[in-house]
Amino acid sequence: MGHDASFNPFEMARQQFDKTADLIGLDDGTRSLLRSPLREFHFSIPVRMDDGTVQVFQGFRVQHNDARGPGKGGIRFHPQETIDTVRALSMWMTWKCAVADIPLGGGKGGVICDPHNLSAREQEAICRGWVRQLARNVGPVADVPAPDVMTNPQHMLWMLDEYEAIHGGHYPGMITGKPVGMGGSLGRTEATGYGVIYCLREALRELDMNAADTTMSVQGFGNVAQYAIELYNEMGGKVVCVSSWDQEEQTTYAFHRANGVDRDELLGITDRFGGIDKAKAKEAGYDVLPGDDWIKQDVDILLPAALENQITEKNVNLIAERVKIIAEGANGPTTPEADAVIEKRGIFMIPDFLANAGGVTCSYFEQVQCNMNYFWEREEVLTKLDQKMTAAYLSISEMAQRQKVYMRDAAYVVAINRVAAACRDRGWV
Ligand code: NAD
Repeated sequence: MGHDASFNPFEMARQQFDKTADLIGLDDGTRSLLRSPLREFHFSIPVRMDDGTVQVFQGFRVQHNDARGPGKGGIRFHPQETIDTVRALSMWMTWKCAVADIPLGGGKGGVICDPHNLSAREQEAICRGWVRQLARNVGPVADVPAPDVMTNPQHMLWMLDEYEAIHGGHYPGMITGKPVGMGGSLGRTEATGYGVIYCLREALRELDMNAADTTMSVQGFGNVAQYAIELYNEMGGKVVCVSSWDQEEQTTYAFHRANGVDRDELLGITDRFGGIDKAKAKEAGYDVLPGDDWIKQDVDILLPAALENQITEKNVNLIAERVKIIAEGANGPTTPEADAVIEKRGIFMIPDFLANAGGVTCSYFEQVQCNMNYFWEREEVLTKLDQKMTAAYLSISEMAQRQKVYMRDAAYVVAINRVAAACRDRGWV
């Protein structure tokens, strides 16, 4: 499924929030505070393009809530980016940091642009322009950006460099997801994907299933998907289908191989945006199917790891009888309508802001290491990540079992209660 202009992620995030606010009987003041972002910034970024013309890009930063700590959240470069997408993602970041129990709040940023069509120099100019607009409103004690869809460690370093030029000093805690050796943390690249699989491992244990006997279908083959597949394979699981965006045809394709896809082989024919080369995949023995087919696969586990609004009322009924678990690597992949069907069918849901919290947890470790100016070995990072993710998973699943509620509702109850308590304790509400 491509982009659906009528879909509004912020309405969806609010719908999910309202449901929980009703469930826990949240007071009106706290409810209206948490339903909207605390602050948002909209600005223009003029860039001198390689051909000499000036193009103006639209940039955003939304700070949903910082009661528990400085805002935290990625910056997305996407041609269909909207302010409501950024609002929704910033709200989900607030819940994610609360569920992971790290001392950070929720923020998110974006620029409407397509890096596929921009030179490195033009992208650098967008990064520096973004920071020039926000140099007084982001930073280690205010709001800490990170990479998201189509942004990477190089973008983060350009942004840090601009911030440090403006403020005249070294502030490595201003941004995370930096290159290793330049303030980045080992383990950050794999953190989100691995975190999804740490949660999955716990869910399998709870459901008395053995990873080595399971199969999975994955939507997307970018950062999150690639590392989730790596660790899942290490646990003995078999991925039979992955899908990706085809830039040339502006559509998606699914790549299927019954005896399992080979992650490393696919990586060799994937571009830096996570797009798989169709012709080469065919040569390597993959069936190339329509992109939406990832959801129809007869597997035990579905892993959406592309974008929001992918499991909807239109396709939720295509999910095979056999599917037992959905682990949401992406943010907001499932609409509330589809969610109701999934809950009714008894499919075990590992909700996005729990499942993909590994990225922000490792970003938090990166900040800690930067503050200490002492960097941990990869194993130490991943061990700490596993502990944090497992603790977060268990606190949600215990609540889900105790109160007999759906996992997403349990995650929302824990998150909103923690954020509401911080707002109350500070005397805001
Ligand atoms: P990415 O840009 O590395 O990869 C995205 C992948 O999705 C690519 O393979 C692309 O081809 C594919 N894709 C794009 N549109 C698609 C479509 N319509 N159908 C099928 N495939 C499509 O991005 P990422 O960092 O892996 O992020 C993926 C999701 O995970 C996003 O929702 C993001 O917000 C979320 N997330 C990422 C992180 C992180 O640390 N990277 C952390 C938390 C959440």
